[in-house]
Amino acid sequence: RVKEHGRNSVRQFIPEMGATAISRLNMEGALRRGLERGEFALHYQPKIDLRSNKIVGAEALIRWHHPQIGLIHPIEFISLAEQTGFILLLGEWVLTEACRQQMAWQQQGLPSLKVAINMSSRQFRQEDLSERIAAIFAGTGADPRNFILELTESMVMQDVDSTLITLRALKNLGVAISLDDFGTGYSSLSYLRKFPIDELKIDKSFINDIHENPDDAAIASAIIAMALSLGLQVVAEGVERKEQADLLIGMRCNQVQGYYFGRPMEAASFAKAVSAQQDAMS
Ligand code: C2E
Ligand code: MG
Ligand code: MG
Ligand code: MG
Repeated sequence: RVKEHGRNSVRQFIPEMGATAISRLNMEGALRRGLERGEFALHYQPKIDLRSNKIVGAEALIRWHHPQIGLIHPIEFISLAEQTGFILLLGEWVLTEACRQQMAWQQQGLPSLKVAINMSSRQFRQEDLSERIAAIFAGTGADPRNFILELTESMVMQDVDSTLITLRALKNLGVAISLDDFGTGYSSLSYLRKFPIDELKIDKSFINDIHENPDDAAIASAIIAMALSLGLQVVAEGVERKEQADLLIGMRCNQVQGYYFGRPMEAASFAKAVSAQQDAMS
C-alpha cells in the first residue's frame, strides 16, 4: 500500500521532505491551515455497473494539495487526523463538498450518480452523528438517497449495540450503507443480517490475483454469492485487468471499481467520462 502510493505522492516531488517527514506537530497545524486555505480536494473514482457497463456513481477520495509539497494521498494524513480528532472537521468538509458536487453534476444534466463517502471510526462513534449528517444534507439541499456511507468491519463490530442504533438513524435519513474493505477485518457474519447495510465492497487484496489464484477466486465468488443471497449489492474494488472483470461478471458481481475502469480523478474529468458514455449511448 505504501509502495503503490509512493509512486504518485510526495516522495516523488521532494524526496528528502515528504509528508512523512513533517513532524507530527507540524502536520497537525498544516492540516488545519490546509483546510482553512482550501488545499483539500475530492477526487472521484468511477463505480461501474457490470450489467449496463455504465458508470453509476463514484467514490469520493480525499487529496491534499500542499503548496510546497504537492499532492498528498490520504494514507499520509488520515490516521494522524483520526488520532488528533481533526478528522471530525475534515469529515464534515468531505460530506459538504461531496453534496455540493453531486448537486452540481445534477444541475449539469448528468444522469443521477451515487456518491460514496468514506467515514472514519472516530466520526462513526460521534453521539450526534446522524444529526450532524442530516444538518449537512439540509444545509446543502442534497438528497441523502444519492449517497453511500462507507464503513469498515472493525468500525461496525466495535460496539454492535450502538452500531445498530447509529445505522438505523443513518438509514432513516435515506443514505445507503456500505461495508468497505470487506474480508480484511473481523466480522461476525450474523451481523451482516442484523445490520441494515446495503452493500459489500470486496477488498482489493482478494481481487488482485483472482485471475491466477483459484483460492482467491473461490473467496471472491463465495463473498459475492453470500452478498447476493442476503440481498446486498456487491462491489469489487481494485480491478486492474480485463481478466479480473470477466471473472467477476461470471460470478454475478454487481459493480466494479478499479484502475482498469478509471482512476480517481478530478470532478471535471469524472463529469466528462460520464457525459462521454451518455453521448455514446444516444
Ligand atoms: P478505500 O476506501 O478502500 O479506497 C480505495 C483505495 O484504493 C483508494 O486509495 C483508491 O485510489 C485505490 N484504488 C482504487 N482502484 C485501485 C486499483 O485498481 N488498484 C490499486 N492498487 N488501488 C486502487 P486512496 O484514494 O489513496 O485512499 C486510501 C484510503 O484512504 C481509502 O481506502 C480510505 O480508507 C481512506 N480515505 C480516502 N478518502 C477519505 C475520506 O474522505 N475520509 C476518510 N475518513 N478516509 C478516506
Ligand atoms: Mg472506501
Ligand atoms: Mg475500500
Ligand atoms: Mg481498500
